Amino acid sequence: MGQAAVAAGPFADRRSRTRDLLARYPFAREVLDLYGALLGVQENAYGEVISARPGAPDLVAYVAERVVPAVVEVTVATGPEKLREAVADRFHSSNPRELVAAWIGGEQQDLVDRYLARASVGPVLEALGADVASSCIGPRDERHCKTCGGVPQLSYFAVASEDLAAGGRFLLCSRCHSTWGYARMTCPGCGEDSSSRLPIFNEEGNASGERGSVVRGLEGRLGDHRKENKAVFPHIRIEACESCRGYLLNIDLLADPDAVPIVDEIAALPLDLYAGERGFSKITPNLMGF
Ligand SMILES: [Zn+2]
Ligand SMILES: [Zn+2]
Repeated sequence: MGQAAVAAGPFADRRSRTRDLLARYPFAREVLDLYGALLGVQENAYGEVISARPGAPDLVAYVAERVVPAVVEVTVATGPEKLREAVADRFHSSNPRELVAAWIGGEQQDLVDRYLARASVGPVLEALGADVASSCIGPRDERHCKTCGGVPQLSYFAVASEDLAAGGRFLLCSRCHSTWGYARMTCPGCGEDSSSRLPIFNEEGNASGERGSVVRGLEGRLGDHRKENKAVFPHIRIEACESCRGYLLNIDLLADPDAVPIVDEIAALPLDLYAGERGFSKITPNLMGF
């Protein structure tokens, strides 16, 4: 997650975590199969763009021509049926440059356009870093990515060796995957910091140290998946906000040091369903639309 991991390429860790979670979470097979296949395309794109080094003015054209076609191909080969059809359809009827430009420009997009743009732009921004990501449109404040202005996808508690300046809590950008420190018990959507308005939902047996105003009830939802009555997600909890009705999933690396937040977040579908049933909306849906 830090500089060293980026220099070596983040994809080996993501791939092996995806394999581990496929074995652990059969209910997430469909999204993890697609994500695992996408990682291969993203890793190639990451490697190629490091040699090609397009500048910010060429970013849209580069991604549209060099990455989008491979993302379409792997999705049509591996994705869930509805997504396959929608993606093939969209690729033939729309201009890839427009959908890439809209994502970089921070515009509203429908699910399919956003999926294609996001899966294609992500590895390119990760490889090129701030020089190019800084050309993306979006606010630069503590609730947005300092590098590209994107909104946070998830929150995580770092292991002790990482920078603990912000109490060990970090947010990960949905657009360029940069991370930044953020205060605990503060809503990343609206800045609410009154703990009575920040409900936390986690399973009994969750190993996350800090409790906050924990609301029980997930056991019923996860009953079918629980083995020997152990938590299905001992390291993930829902951090919601009564003020803006938003939420993010928080991944606690102290509770599971092998977790790769971007992968674990995608696999935690039942938590998203639970939050949705309680009337909360994720600050932004993840790559897979949840
Ligand atoms: Zn960013
Ligand atoms: Zn809020």
